[in-house]
Amino acid sequence: MALERTFSIVKPDATKRNLTGKICAMLEDGGLRIIAQKRIQLTLAQAQEFYSVHAERPFYDELCEFMVSEPIVVQVLEGENAILRNREIMGATNPADAEEGTIRKTHALSLGENSIHGSDAPETAAEEIAYFFAGLELVG
Ligand code: ADP
Repeated sequence: MALERTFSIVKPDATKRNLTGKICAMLEDGGLRIIAQKRIQLTLAQAQEFYSVHAERPFYDELCEFMVSEPIVVQVLEGENAILRNREIMGATNPADAEEGTIRKTHALSLGENSIHGSDAPETAAEEIAYFFAGLELVG
């Protein structure tokens, strides 16, 4: 199986509740390696750009406001099939639908405030990593 990289965000609801370490431990226990990480405060313009794919959705404004409400922790994760593996560890978007033991089932507050973001495909992973990190910051 191929070693792959994916992009992850510990979202504001989780940083606010001081859950960054617990979430990192769940990622690591799930077989992923954090090869880059930083805590940042997004601007509204950056949040709007990052989620521009959802610009026409009714929840877009709420989502962008949420993403700037507290600091976030952006990460690059590496592992075998990291994109899919991370989605499994995260659980379904809505915590009510997420499986037991997943990050969202364990920690998310709601469909919107769902604790973690993970890339959904190789193209978006590459784009999202490049948006937040310089190549020199990825230390595998
Ligand atoms: P995922 O983060 O699981 O890839 P999506 O890409 O569909 O899910 O949505 C991006 C984010 O937008 C979700 O993680 C969630 O925070 C928010 N979101 C999605 N759907 C809704 C909704 N119906 N109401 C409020 N927020 C939503």
